[in-house]
Amino acid sequence: GYMFAHADLAPNAGVNPGEIAGNGRDDDGNGYVDDVRGWDFDRNDGTVYDGTADDHGTHVAGTIGAAGNNGTGVVGVCRSVRLSNAKFLGRNGGTTANAIRAVDYFTDLKTRHGLNLVATNNSWGGGGFSQGLQDAIARANAAGILFVAAAGNSTVNCDTGSCFPAEYQVPNVIAVASITSTGAISSFSNFGARTIHLGAPGSGIWSTVPGRGGASSYASYSGTSMATPHVAGAAALYASRNPGATAAQIRTAILNAATPTTSLAGRTITGGRLNVAGS
Ligand code: CA
Repeated sequence: GYMFAHADLAPNAGVNPGEIAGNGRDDDGNGYVDDVRGWDFDRNDGTVYDGTADDHGTHVAGTIGAAGNNGTGVVGVCRSVRLSNAKFLGRNGGTTANAIRAVDYFTDLKTRHGLNLVATNNSWGGGGFSQGLQDAIARANAAGILFVAAAGNSTVNCDTGSCFPAEYQVPNVIAVASITSTGAISSFSNFGARTIHLGAPGSGIWSTVPGRGGASSYASYSGTSMATPHVAGAAALYASRNPGATAAQIRTAILNAATPTTSLAGRTITGGRLNVAGS
């Protein structure tokens, strides 16, 4: 979940145009009542923001698309993005079944309700291989939605270890490792010459978080969760500049523009880090 009312996120907080807030009806007929800001699959309601425990999602959202030119806080990679939310992790984690529902939620909004959904940001991991989740990612792929995923934070080689969902072999997946401000691979970051595509900044990332009493605050977090939204934001930015681009074209542009680094050579498919200016 993310704090859509955060002062630096509110200008880019998207709404489901087919849904009327608070009328107790499933206006767009997608199976979810009053899913104006998205859906909370963990609690099965429309309140995608449940308080300060949603700091992780709020931080990620800011890296994708915090507002620019508003004289405060931070700016996201794509300042013209619109953010939606499918929350399936709560205080006690979540289930793969709800992850599948969350992925399919966006696929349905694009295919049956016409929302221009470019990418999902998947700053989460865990569980083993799931045929059901792989099938859901494949349905997103068929709908032209990129699936940008965090490599994970266990210093694991994903070519041999388990790094789901990052390592699903579906054409819309972009798996992201973390680098530091000097370009080194972050000490915690998973990697994989055959499974992880590129690196992006994930150490000491300053972004939006909920403050006490509903305040809009900021904090520095580290993780491949923080690297991943740089790439998801890049996908949105590319789509905004190239409105007719397909998911495959956006993905190719991002991967082809990666700047080679010694830190990521032999540890990622591209051997490089995200370079938004190059794509
Ligand atoms: Ca609905």
